[in-house]
Amino acid sequence: MKIAIAGFGALGARVGVMLQQAGHEVTGIDGWAAHIAAITNDGLTVRQDDGTSKKFFIPVMTAKEIDGQFDLIILLTKTPQLDTMLIDIKHIITKNTKLLVLSNGLGNIEVMERHVNRNQILAGVTLWTSELVKPGEIRTTGSGSIKLQSIGNVDATAVVDALNQAELNVTLSQNVIEAIWHKAGINSVLNPLTVLLDANIAEFGTAGNGMDLSLNILEEIKKIGDLEGINVNINEIMKDIVSLVRPENAGNHYPSMYQDIKAGKRTEIDFLNGYFSKLGSEHGIELPFNSLVTRLIHAKEDIERTK
Ligand code: NAD
Repeated sequence: MKIAIAGFGALGARVGVMLQQAGHEVTGIDGWAAHIAAITNDGLTVRQDDGTSKKFFIPVMTAKEIDGQFDLIILLTKTPQLDTMLIDIKHIITKNTKLLVLSNGLGNIEVMERHVNRNQILAGVTLWTSELVKPGEIRTTGSGSIKLQSIGNVDATAVVDALNQAELNVTLSQNVIEAIWHKAGINSVLNPLTVLLDANIAEFGTAGNGMDLSLNILEEIKKIGDLEGINVNINEIMKDIVSLVRPENAGNHYPSMYQDIKAGKRTEIDFLNGYFSKLGSEHGIELPFNSLVTRLIHAKEDIERTK
């Protein structure tokens, strides 16, 4: 399959390498000049759990430079960047192109519907992880999985099969929206709270009131889920959080929001806690914990960006 990865950052590069290794024709699209130059000149370095590293040569270019037609475009920008990416790659999207978004957070499908037909959209959630070490280099840990669903009335089996040739552990979901909300629930707890408490995930797990704070956030999200007709299973989300804080799981990892703050970048908060607060306002309900967390993260973004 001819596949473009729009957003060839930490996760896009990992997925891109796996797809290329399985024989797909992969092209990366990114706007970060130093990253493109490093990959083009020296290859993409992938560091693995065991300390070994390997180089892969994948064509990566800017949206302006890319040309041609693709069977599948996998969108892996940060959520606030999705709209601009879709504008930038408009010229390579044909009626037959399928677009799969794997970015975290809520609102991605609405953004895509502004640019392409609903029948072209696939939405997913992924448990694959990756970290950018420096331009041209990523660090990968463990394995992962993807749940995806076609948003229109289209069979997604061919895409699932293509991704599974690359051992991406993809399953077709009957209710991807619920899975997206589930992951957004986890991220709405672990991302902002590790930033605000200056802790990695395991350290957050040692906070005496860490689980109470998690419940404060999740109970508000459940209220909105009930109003939107989406089942938010707090027990299941808490089970995942309790598992992730174990050092042998994601415990020693700093979530991406923490890394974005440290890098002076804008975070995905408006597509997590901020999105739930916005939905709350639309329903005439205040979500005090989620609203406060959103405002504190915006304040932290400003402080770090002006340092
Ligand atoms: P990242 O910042 O490393 O990668 C995004 C890339 O997109 C960057 O290299 C950036 O230069 C590029 N980009 C953005 N807008 C662009 C544009 N208009 N034109 C060209 N290039 C553009 O982010 P990431 O960590 O790979 O995460 C991507 C998404 O996946 C996020 O929503 C994140 O929450 C989610 N996610 C990440 C992980 C992970 O472990 N990294 C795990 C699960 C989900």
